[in-house]
Amino acid sequence: MGERLMRAVRVHAFGGPEALRCEDVPVPVPQGSQVLVKVEAAGVNPVDTYIRTGAYARKPALPYTPGSDAAGTVAALGAEAEGLAVGDRVYTSGTLSGSYAEYALCERTQVYPLPTAVDFAQGAALGTPYATAYRALFQRGSARPGEKLLIHGATGGVGLAALQLAVAAGMRIFATGGTAEGRALVREQGAHAVFDHHAEGYLDEIGARSGGIDIVLEMLANVNLDRDLTVLSAGGRVVVVGSRGRIEIDPRATMQRETAIIGMTLFAATPREVAEIHAALGAGLANGSLRPVIGKRFSLADAGKAHEAITQTGTCGKIIIHF
Ligand code: NAP
Repeated sequence: MGERLMRAVRVHAFGGPEALRCEDVPVPVPQGSQVLVKVEAAGVNPVDTYIRTGAYARKPALPYTPGSDAAGTVAALGAEAEGLAVGDRVYTSGTLSGSYAEYALCERTQVYPLPTAVDFAQGAALGTPYATAYRALFQRGSARPGEKLLIHGATGGVGLAALQLAVAAGMRIFATGGTAEGRALVREQGAHAVFDHHAEGYLDEIGARSGGIDIVLEMLANVNLDRDLTVLSAGGRVVVVGSRGRIEIDPRATMQRETAIIGMTLFAATPREVAEIHAALGAGLANGSLRPVIGKRFSLADAGKAHEAITQTGTCGKIIIHF
């Protein structure tokens, strides 16, 4: 019997969105503790575009299939993959073979149950954005109920995830979006005060209205970090989730109120922290407090268009590839 083939996006040379090509490749076979997932939807994350250019710290061997996030069903299991059965609904946070494909090979530890109330498109929005939001808020930011949170860039994958987590945790939420549509979504999702991050003087207004922010989750630190420091309360912290360049800051702004700038990357989470993250996400999915919002959907053949879309502003929910 010949190898089974599947459609998959492949990158043969680092470059622009046109580097994403749809091809037939062999369906992987799970060994040991590995799991083969039949992908129904794949999440598109900004990091997928950074890796595609070849300029990112993590460079996969060429050719490779992009993507770490997917949702679907278990298609096959290695002999040592425990606690799952063929046909189970799952989402992935990380894969071995890439998620922009009909099937994704994963380590058992990268696969988590997906409740039936959460559809596959929503499941594909969990792995990176929700795990990042949880780590930024609770593991790095030490967020507490009742604290005042600014989600600086709340309309995208991580921002909306943080918003839902913070609503469930009982925080007082200030949030920003770049378009009226995005801001309406953020308001509908439970933000208590919503601002336009392109408007003149909006951070002064946030500072005045809040009386001091306890935590800023910052999606674009190279633009906002210096001014973020001016809205913090005593003991406040900025968690740097995203940054796309350099910025000059005034360190003096951190001194009087003893504030902190905290970096974060999901890649640094220990296995124990990863388990904590997905236990918390599982509880939120089960009780209905976590429900990803999908913005744009693309077919596998249009993965390049999905990469173009995620680099644009005017975000309004998560971008996914559906099958
Ligand atoms: P996304 O879905 O593309 O969303 C991007 C967000 O940035 C949108 O809410 C967008 O708002 C907002 N934004 C644009 N201009 C802004 C500005 N001037 N000030 C504040 N926010 C602004 O991307 P994502 O998946 O949420 O990821 C967000 C960032 O976090 C990316 O840079 C990504 O690389 C990074 N990230 C880091 C980690 C990590 O481990 N550290 C993990 C995941 C993601 P509008 O479009 O409404 O203007």
